Amino acid sequence: MSASITVRCDRTGQYGSCPTQLFTTTSDADEAYAYASRLGWTVNGTPDYCPQHSSNTRPTPAVVPLHLREP
Ligand SMILES: [Zn+2]
Repeated sequence: MSASITVRCDRTGQYGSCPTQLFTTTSDADEAYAYASRLGWTVNGTPDYCPQHSSNTRPTPAVVPLHLREP
């Protein structure tokens, strides 16, 4: 069993839900959230927000390169 956690942005707007997802390589929730947090995500519970949408509540560095590898 190696299901890995995908963190999704829970932000919804006029165009629907935010499509941003963060694919992690761990099945441990704490680990996944710690990873997401380092990338600027707001994951202090639910809802979770991607860096773009969490910037309203928490200033994050403008340059957080998000290079996701294809599986
Ligand atoms: Zn978002």
